[in-house]
Amino acid sequence: MAFVGSVSAAKLGFSSAISQRVGRDRYAKRTSRASMGLAINLKGGVETFADELVETANKIASPGHGILAVDESTKTIGKRLASIGVENTEENRQGYRQLLFNCPGLGEYISGAILFEETLYQSSTDGTPFVDCLKSVGVIPGIKVDKGLSPLGGAESFETWCTGLDGLSERAAAYYKQGARFAKWRAVLQISNSTPSKLSIDENAWGLARYAKTVQDQGLVPIIEPEILMDGDHSIERTAEVQEEVLATVYKFCDLNGVFLEGSLLKPNMTVPGAEFSGTTSPEEIGAYTVRTLERQVPPSVPGIMFLSGGMSEEEASINLSVMNKAPRKGPWSLSFSYGRALQQSCLKTWLGKEENVEAAQEALLARARANSQANLGKYAPGSEKSLDAQGTFEKGYKY
Ligand code: 13P
Repeated sequence: MAFVGSVSAAKLGFSSAISQRVGRDRYAKRTSRASMGLAINLKGGVETFADELVETANKIASPGHGILAVDESTKTIGKRLASIGVENTEENRQGYRQLLFNCPGLGEYISGAILFEETLYQSSTDGTPFVDCLKSVGVIPGIKVDKGLSPLGGAESFETWCTGLDGLSERAAAYYKQGARFAKWRAVLQISNSTPSKLSIDENAWGLARYAKTVQDQGLVPIIEPEILMDGDHSIERTAEVQEEVLATVYKFCDLNGVFLEGSLLKPNMTVPGAEFSGTTSPEEIGAYTVRTLERQVPPSVPGIMFLSGGMSEEEASINLSVMNKAPRKGPWSLSFSYGRALQQSCLKTWLGKEENVEAAQEALLARARANSQANLGKYAPGSEKSLDAQGTFEKGYKY
């Protein structure tokens, strides 16, 4: 049932953070519309949390800030730890995440951290719950809520759908109670001559929209992540064409499900050619294609677009983001980061599981966080922050 309420400024997304970002002129237009007292349609449930959702989404997308994606499943974090010769035990996972969440100054550049369920309920060794460690440095805790990918019968053999809708409402309420204020759901699409199939686009877009509506009703800002993998030798034009279709479908289903866009965030891949594409592509081209794709398909009411890194190296991810933010554009959103691999590689390689390296590893994390914060402002000077990740982490058929 549709709910028609009067609008507070926050419900329409007029935060001071936005005003700084979009510039005074556009903000003036927005405030004058607010003072006219526009009514807003909020569909079922979400009205309880509307103001809070807008506030959370805008805080995450505030200038100079982005997300630290540390929601690797137990299996995936095992691969990361193995790469530095550390065993995948609960104690080692706790040790690594404790290093991240107790990093002094993290909140200067990082506004949110996405956690795996185990981590949301974990504490540091001195007994402080991780959610409190994060909050104390101004980082909002978030939670990965999908239950992973499953083969999509009826589509190409390598296509998948994203599971986790059963019981999601109850889980989201429990996560909110534990301190989470946003959520993530990652759907995956793959480009080949015959894919993504219409079935996989529709199924994955529908799942994202159902998830987004479900968690919003429990107070969590949904991060909508339709990742198009870099696997393949296709051109950047082909990625752009596919991404436009995927985003158009996602927002069509968001509309149908009554997702409150002002209280949501998008997490796409940048529009890049396939990893095995034979030509070269400049950061300027990547920026131009990415912005064009987004401007064509993402509603301006979404406050932030927080890119995944998808296997790009730390430097590539920072440079591409910075170049993109330098170019003039029509889209009003903050273009920022929600990087996993491109924020953690140098940190992991510095830590090596050793207590005596914790401080240096925290510095390595801060360096990449600072680089991406600068990139969000279009000001990152290539090479000005250290990186031990020259190669990038692209892996064929990558499973998160
Ligand atoms: P990467 O930045 O490593 O691609 O991971 C981000 C993420 O959260 C994927 O869901």
